[in-house]
Amino acid sequence: ILEVTDITQQFRSGDQKLTVLDQINFSVEEGTTCAIVGPSGSGKTTLLGLCAGLDRPTDGKINLNQIDLGPLTEDQRAQVRNKHVGFVFQTFQLVPTLTALENVMVPLELRGTNPKEVEHDARELLTEVGLGDRLQHYPAQLSGGEQQRVAIARAFINRPKILFADEPTGNLDSETGHTIEELLFDLNRISGTTLVLVTHDHSLAEQCQRIIHLKNGRIHSDERNEPSETEAINQ
Ligand code: ATP
Repeated sequence: ILEVTDITQQFRSGDQKLTVLDQINFSVEEGTTCAIVGPSGSGKTTLLGLCAGLDRPTDGKINLNQIDLGPLTEDQRAQVRNKHVGFVFQTFQLVPTLTALENVMVPLELRGTNPKEVEHDARELLTEVGLGDRLQHYPAQLSGGEQQRVAIARAFINRPKILFADEPTGNLDSETGHTIEELLFDLNRISGTTLVLVTHDHSLAEQCQRIIHLKNGRIHSDERNEPSETEAINQ
């Protein structure tokens, strides 16, 4: 579902060119889970943003759901994102002036779905993530874990084929982080959503089928993990 070919990303600072990603190659199969790990500054967030079509690489090619993002305009990339991609940020990024329900409704409204249907879907999804009694709360009235659940519901409302999450548990205590982890892996198990996440959390990475380790903008290692089999043996 995701093919990354020879991706290079450079940023300019004054006269200097900073190469943040250097010839990155990998692909992710549909329905699988993949963690991107590595030291701070190794380029993880930059890579995730490029894969999700939020930014455009300096060089190289990204195919998302068999669509080559390269030749697309900003608007066309936004359409692809709205149709196929969900994105969860470490800092939740909810709209502070909208209620939980309204926040989750935004992507469907952008897509022009019938308003009644939009509200029905958003209510249902928030109930599924355990926030059926928080629909009218504003982000400031919600705990961090609750805000992240709203953000996940918002990312999932379009039923994306692939969900990108940048440090989804980074701002949460370990128990709340665990609830969020379960929610993300449930989306993968139950709906077959491909998960690509950036994390510093070892236990979260270990639950993914694949771990890509970035170092200085290059792939240091790319390992297949068999979390479900390990779990089965332990049971
Ligand atoms: P962390 O784990 O600390 O979040 P990361 O691995 O996600 O780090 P990135 O956020 O991808 O790292 O940043 C990689 C490097 O690129 C950093 O040195 C950062 O300063 C630089 N960088 C990122 N975005 C820009 C930008 N828009 N302009 C210039 N430099 C940038």
